Amino acid sequence: MFETAIAGSLPKPAWLAETQKLWPKWQSAGAELAQAKLDATLLWIKAQEDAGLDVIGDGEQSRQHFVHGFLEKVAGIDFEHKVEMGIRNDRYKAMLPQVVGPLSLTGRVHETEARFLRAHTSRKIKFTLPGPMTIVDTVADCHYGDRVQMAMAFAELLNQEALALEADGVDIVQFDEPAFNVYLDDAAGWGVQALERAARGLKCKTAVHICYGYGITANNDWKKTLGEEWRQYERVFPALAASSIDQVSLECIHSHVPPELMALLAGKDVMVGVIDVANDAIETAEEVADTIGRALRFVPRERLIACTNCGLAPMSREVAQAKLAALAQGAALARTRYSA
Ligand code: ZN
Repeated sequence: MFETAIAGSLPKPAWLAETQKLWPKWQSAGAELAQAKLDATLLWIKAQEDAGLDVIGDGEQSRQHFVHGFLEKVAGIDFEHKVEMGIRNDRYKAMLPQVVGPLSLTGRVHETEARFLRAHTSRKIKFTLPGPMTIVDTVADCHYGDRVQMAMAFAELLNQEALALEADGVDIVQFDEPAFNVYLDDAAGWGVQALERAARGLKCKTAVHICYGYGITANNDWKKTLGEEWRQYERVFPALAASSIDQVSLECIHSHVPPELMALLAGKDVMVGVIDVANDAIETAEEVADTIGRALRFVPRERLIACTNCGLAPMSREVAQAKLAALAQGAALARTRYSA
């Protein structure tokens, strides 16, 4: 009851990359960088185990950014000539690589870190990939001229990598789709279709993470414009409930998401965000257990997974480590409180 997991990313140590940045520069190159990535992965596997988490991830230590890490192994993309564009409906500007031809994979994307993760923990492992709609929203298209067609092309590539990750021993493949909270009609339509295409044929658990973004200023300012009740999930949850995806990750603590929206996910495992990523204050075990208690009114206890609201990448290592401990301690308290 109440398994614990992180949404995905964790801070990179200062010797690996610039700290507290979303697109950090690496501190080394070549073989030295490859070793540093694995060293950092090992450090976070141990930290997650020590904190007491049930599902372990690689903390995305091997990728510079959660979308562009995947794109680095995709042919048909020009990384040399990036263009500045507004993303997530113009919420913030980013330098985007351009899609310049038909898309295909040049090889495995995450084989090294997935196998490394499998080799260094006996607990369940989760591996994250960007979702097709979010990828489409994080590149500049100079080839397809059609977002749906391009999303399906990316979904096909994601599927190839996801099936290979399953063969590497991954227990849960998670697709990150923050764009689902921005393009609501498209998300419920072709967004979920593309997601199912990306997950086709997987026998391991499949998950989707939908959030209001990292705790960066542009996102925090955007959240202030969303009003008292954040009902974005209301559009996409019924489509996900009807889909083949097993688990849905959502924001809960300190968000304005009405908890009753979780009832729209009947039949799915629900990863409830009980750790805030936009705030350095460390949650108490009581706060975490209280948040789990609120979710239990709408989610059966055997389907509730305690999770972070989003990735912890832009935070300090110290804060992230304390939040992992709070997550595990809060879930433990909830088990004693709500087991009867
Ligand atoms: Zn997120």
